[in-house]
Amino acid sequence: MFLTISTTGNQERPATDLGFLLHKHPDKAQTFSTSHGTAHVLYPEASVERCTAALLLEVDPVALVRRGKGKGRGGSPDSALAQYVNDRPYAASSLLAVALSAVFKSALQGVCNARPERAAAPLPLRIEVPALPARGGAELVTKLFAPLGWTTVRAEPVPLDEQFPEWGDSRYVQLVLEGELRLSDALRQLYVLLPVLDDAKHYWVAPDEVDKLLRAGEGWLAEHPEQKLITSRYLSRRWSLTRQAMERLELVRLAEADDLEVEEIDNAVDETTDTDERPLPLAAQRRDAILRALGAAGASRVLDLGCGQGQLVQALLKDVKFTEIVGVDVSMRALTIASRRLKLDRMGERQAERVKLMQGSLTYTDKRLTGYDAAVLSEVIEHLDLPRLPALEYAVFGSARPRTVLVTTPNVEYNVRWETLPAGHVRHGDHRFEWTREEFHGWAEQVAERHGYGVEFVAVGPEDPEVGPPTQMAVFTMIAQDKQGKQDKQAGHAGQDKKEAKAA
Ligand code: SAH
Repeated sequence: MFLTISTTGNQERPATDLGFLLHKHPDKAQTFSTSHGTAHVLYPEASVERCTAALLLEVDPVALVRRGKGKGRGGSPDSALAQYVNDRPYAASSLLAVALSAVFKSALQGVCNARPERAAAPLPLRIEVPALPARGGAELVTKLFAPLGWTTVRAEPVPLDEQFPEWGDSRYVQLVLEGELRLSDALRQLYVLLPVLDDAKHYWVAPDEVDKLLRAGEGWLAEHPEQKLITSRYLSRRWSLTRQAMERLELVRLAEADDLEVEEIDNAVDETTDTDERPLPLAAQRRDAILRALGAAGASRVLDLGCGQGQLVQALLKDVKFTEIVGVDVSMRALTIASRRLKLDRMGERQAERVKLMQGSLTYTDKRLTGYDAAVLSEVIEHLDLPRLPALEYAVFGSARPRTVLVTTPNVEYNVRWETLPAGHVRHGDHRFEWTREEFHGWAEQVAERHGYGVEFVAVGPEDPEVGPPTQMAVFTMIAQDKQGKQDKQAGHAGQDKKEAKAA
């Protein structure tokens, strides 16, 4: 079984730098012994213009059987022959993924002391896997790789026997990926997705597999539309582990959005088998609820305040009724990631006219934010210190004054339902507070009252009869424009906050 990794280059950026990135010299063929056989790394071509590294794994089927781990999910344990006659030596299965991580460990981590700038930057890549076992077929292969930044994802079914086309296709595909990606990103994707497609993990899934998955999935898994399938297959459908991984991914997603470390949430793994299907990740449910509310409000020019990495902006762009979309965030890093996600630099002119990202702080009034139909504050207010909240309130409801304002925030009562959250903890290290439904309603009603808005509440996520939904959303609708002056004067502590808010 093997795969090849190719890149192209020129005098300035020679393709042979691939050797540095992989920590394997292009002039040598090297051999490594891994737990399941022998891995060879060799370069069929290595020039300034084009360089290809091949990883070839010779699996020792007898050793596999001796280790008692060669059967996989689909094997038949009662047939002695099947233990020896199986596809493991030929198919790019999880064994290849394991070899990949062993042989290219530093490359997977993106470490390259000789060429750090090359490791950090995307490079033109072509990856080919001639025999990839794919449960779910070519269609699933595309679904898994297409959202990950590849410009070409080609998965062609391999016929069972070329001489007898009527026998149909085998369960293998020939995979070609092309695109500009960082090498470490590409390798980490393969490390996870090869075994996911093979769907026959050859070793016992231990609790630290969740950590491995999250490490390899950093930067792409938290937002992958097939996150659930990937997580569940990678963890051999062990539901308790899958659920743990998905909950941690939700926290990772939040942490990535504002540049902070995830809180360590590491509970003992409970082994209760729980087979109920988990619906969409909460983040996706939140976006759906926001899109619905914006649609109901008839908004077309929308502010996403505290837009983070731009997931909502991206979703808004997909709907033509949103003619102008502005993402605002205080974090430059978040905005850089958002702009990369949206491919702002490669966007057609008409699309580009619809979207803008800008840096700004929401605790200061900002003239650029006036005149919009709606503003969204999705999971933002809890990132502010409570004493700063009135300043945000004034900047949004007093100064920018869109007709509709949507505010979502965690419902702290629901935290007891997050299995991996230790008692008394907030969901994310940077949350300055989390509110009960009563606290949120109290705040929102006062804000509405002070600024001339009506407010309604929407539950987001599965509503628990006792503790309510995981996320709560307030939908503010302006009552009448001319009420503004009067309402603002009524605001008890407006003086101080207004000054602060106007200081910018
Ligand atoms: N709205 C996104 C991101 C939520 S994370 C989502 O729903 O996924 C909170 C975001 O608010 C972070 O990106 C953080 O940088 C931003 N933020 C926090 N305080 C801010 C402030 N004062 N002004 C602007 N953005 C702020």
